[in-house]
Amino acid sequence: MTGLPAESAPAAGTALETGASFHEMWAELLPIGRNPDSGGYRRYAWTGADADCRAWFRAQATARGLSYELDRNGNQWAWLGDPAAGDAVVTGSHLDSVPDGGAFDGPLGVVSSFAALDELAARGARPNRPLAVVNFGDEEGARFGLACVGSRLAAGQLTTAAAHRLRDAEGISLPQAMERAGHDPEAIGPDPERLARIGAFVELHVEQGRALDLSGDPVGIASAIWPHGRWRFDFHGEANHAGTTRLEDRHDPMLTYANTVLAARKKARLAGALATFGKVSVEPNGVNAIPSLVRGWLDSRAADQETLDAVVAEIERAAQERGARDGVRVSVARESFTPVVEFGHALRDRLSALLGGAPVLPTGAGHDAGILSAAVPTAMLFVRNPTGVSHSPAETAREDDCLAGVTALADVLEGLACH
Ligand SMILES: [Zn+2]
Repeated sequence: MTGLPAESAPAAGTALETGASFHEMWAELLPIGRNPDSGGYRRYAWTGADADCRAWFRAQATARGLSYELDRNGNQWAWLGDPAAGDAVVTGSHLDSVPDGGAFDGPLGVVSSFAALDELAARGARPNRPLAVVNFGDEEGARFGLACVGSRLAAGQLTTAAAHRLRDAEGISLPQAMERAGHDPEAIGPDPERLARIGAFVELHVEQGRALDLSGDPVGIASAIWPHGRWRFDFHGEANHAGTTRLEDRHDPMLTYANTVLAARKKARLAGALATFGKVSVEPNGVNAIPSLVRGWLDSRAADQETLDAVVAEIERAAQERGARDGVRVSVARESFTPVVEFGHALRDRLSALLGGAPVLPTGAGHDAGILSAAVPTAMLFVRNPTGVSHSPAETAREDDCLAGVTALADVLEGLACH
């Protein structure tokens, strides 16, 4: 238990119980969806690993005598108190992962939420508002290409029709995947009544950068989420023989793509933004064939919308210019976009007061909290990540920092719901 900040350290008995419940839950989740080759997690929406995570969540709810709900959009809720009473304080995160993701992104928030409820119980705290833990479905968008599907649907930021059109790499549609997992895809859609019950939503998450490591704080509070989006770049060239086609006769889309990747890096660096091509598909994908089509997905983020728009426009211009030289046709389509999220100052200031001295920092990573902030007062807590690495098996957090996060979350929940 070393490293707990003295001002927020709970009574000794409480800390022990919190640590025990955290460790037990963490150990149960750890093997689910773990790929033994990479050590990373493959917990994709509506797969077997996802079902195992969901069963775990439900078991946690049941074990604590919380009432369990699965909503129309596949989000799971565990309620302490009467949900219908309204003005609830909700905490939670997600349990799904990116391909070969780390153990902390998502699960740390869900496990910490249950552990924080345990700590409140150990403190003898008496909530006068309903409390809930939520597991939002399909946060990472690893399977269907769109992030935060569960919260977007609930908040009306993704229509039922658009969700029904989502397909995975095997061509399985979201409705098909839901049906196979026993969930009714016709039921999905806006859920304003459910969101109207929430008076405050607080998501705890492992930090996906090194700001807390650099400031030396175990826990921080989010100020804002950078605007971010995904763009699909299609580079149409001409398939031909790798051994017989003269270099000057080629229309090689791989060349245009490669130059675009380099341009993206340069434009982002000059603008203080981020730009990443992390996914690519090639047709026909043969070693001895010049490709006919290269499709690359750009993820770009910046502190403000103007900068982001400018960076993406410059990357597209660079792709078009290079495409013209290579005889390759370039088309660009925006697949998703999330505007800047400024977390409400009132709740943020309340958290700051409850966690005296915790630093306030922005993040470039999207979260369900960002989606929900349009509908309900929302805040986020970050737990220090000593390497800053995330979306990788190397993602990590120190044990005492995780427990400091639980204590901070319990302090916040107690401050919001018990006074
Ligand atoms: Zn996450």
